[in-house]
Amino acid sequence: MAAQRFPTQLMINGVAVTGEGRAESVLNPSTGEVLCEVREASADQLRQAVDAASAAFPAWAALTPRDRSAYLLKIADAVEAHGDELASLESLNCGKPLSAARNDEIPAIADVYRFFSGAIRNLMGSLSGEYLPGHTSMIRRDPLGVVASIAPWNYPLMMAAWKLGPAIAMGNTVVLKPSENTPLTTLRFGEILAGILPPGVVNIVCGRGDTVGAPLIRDPRIRMASLTGDVSTGSKIMEAAARGIKRTHLELGGKAPVIVLDDADLSSVVEGLRTFGYYNAGQDCTAACRVYAGEKVYERLVADLSSAVSSIKVGTQQEPGVEMGPLISARQRDRVASFVDRASQLSHTEITTGGSATGTKGFFYKPTVVAGARQDDEIVRSEVFGPVVSITRVKDTEQAIAWANDSEYGLSSSVWTRDVGAAMNIASRLQYGCTWVNTHFMLVSEMPHGGMKHSGYGKDLSVYALEDYSCARHVMIRH
Ligand code: NAD
Repeated sequence: MAAQRFPTQLMINGVAVTGEGRAESVLNPSTGEVLCEVREASADQLRQAVDAASAAFPAWAALTPRDRSAYLLKIADAVEAHGDELASLESLNCGKPLSAARNDEIPAIADVYRFFSGAIRNLMGSLSGEYLPGHTSMIRRDPLGVVASIAPWNYPLMMAAWKLGPAIAMGNTVVLKPSENTPLTTLRFGEILAGILPPGVVNIVCGRGDTVGAPLIRDPRIRMASLTGDVSTGSKIMEAAARGIKRTHLELGGKAPVIVLDDADLSSVVEGLRTFGYYNAGQDCTAACRVYAGEKVYERLVADLSSAVSSIKVGTQQEPGVEMGPLISARQRDRVASFVDRASQLSHTEITTGGSATGTKGFFYKPTVVAGARQDDEIVRSEVFGPVVSITRVKDTEQAIAWANDSEYGLSSSVWTRDVGAAMNIASRLQYGCTWVNTHFMLVSEMPHGGMKHSGYGKDLSVYALEDYSCARHVMIRH
């Protein structure tokens, strides 16, 4: 059987080139085996990527929205046409079930490009008018220039879509850096884009954060840095951006509270947590991981959830019926294990299911429930980014709201109740970029996704993203 070909070349100015920097091993997280090596971009190649994006910018920005929209539609079609190949590569590199990559992610990625292709033709704005006698004012919304986009490893191609869609629809050009752990689909996508977009509109460079991400952002021609990643990385990017007075767009971590009132439909809560707490092995910044349960439902919720979670089928990418894959790396698995180990040592907590690594190879960790967790426990306060859900008992709704808000994170949250008034009241008081009622995790291209507090700022998806990737400008004409 012929060996699988892995894309390993960077895309600079529409030309595939081999990186001139250090070689990084790319692994299959289900086995720990090396799939291929990808060489990082050298300093010179980074410069060339920004040169290409800068040179492409004026012509790309000058296209009408209709013309840019047509390119985005072609990209969406290409995502679908290459759907099997991209999903297979994504699942291999991330360890996620092939069915999730193929059936959930690929259609959602195509939809992002399709949404922005339509949205860019429909932007609304303030009225032009005479706000000073004899002068007419109008508002324009114009692109910023070259955007540096830095993506994480949990949904590489989806995060690329969230960043590229609004940036290029708005008329910016981009240098995109995928995570060093998961570059493969982005590199393959770069090859596909080279057949669609004018050279230089999207350039792809690979490498680690300190050797490639940081110098990229420091390039004075970068006008905006967009990151999806860790809080600590967000703060480093803000520091670098502060020195160069650059715009930033930061989607950082999360620790989503899930408030379960005493009147909630428990079977749908259990089903929701089983799905949205463990999807992508919990490596999701919106994961339903921090449950606050009312006194009356607490015991049953712990019992039913533990039993439901113990039935999650963990396995490799193409195993029949697999629901959850491994974590991305040995480091991430060990990090998750250390959180659970510390939680298990507390006298008031109980690991009701899971609580250990599993499998003879690869980076698997069992889906885990930590019951009896208290508000001050590390497992309640820190982002684990793994298949671990904590359950905390609350005495009433006020305590649930207070504890849900008592967090450095502010990305997403959910409330489970049959009482619409209670749901609306709680939703209005939660300090999170999103609150779902009787569901969790549901994203649509039309609605904004983004955080508050240490979860960052700036919106992905929706017309708000087009605003973030552009500048409102005033033009005044004297009569
Ligand atoms: P990470 O912050 O380690 O890495 C993210 C990206 O930043 C990678 O491409 C990395 O190479 C790059 N990077 C690291 N240091 C850098 C620097 N100094 N300058 C420039 N770039 C740098 O995060 P990760 O481990 O890849 O992803 C997991 C984290 O991402 C979690 O904390 C998770 O919550 C967060 N996340 C957030 C969202 C969201 O929408 N809020 C979505 C997905 C992931």
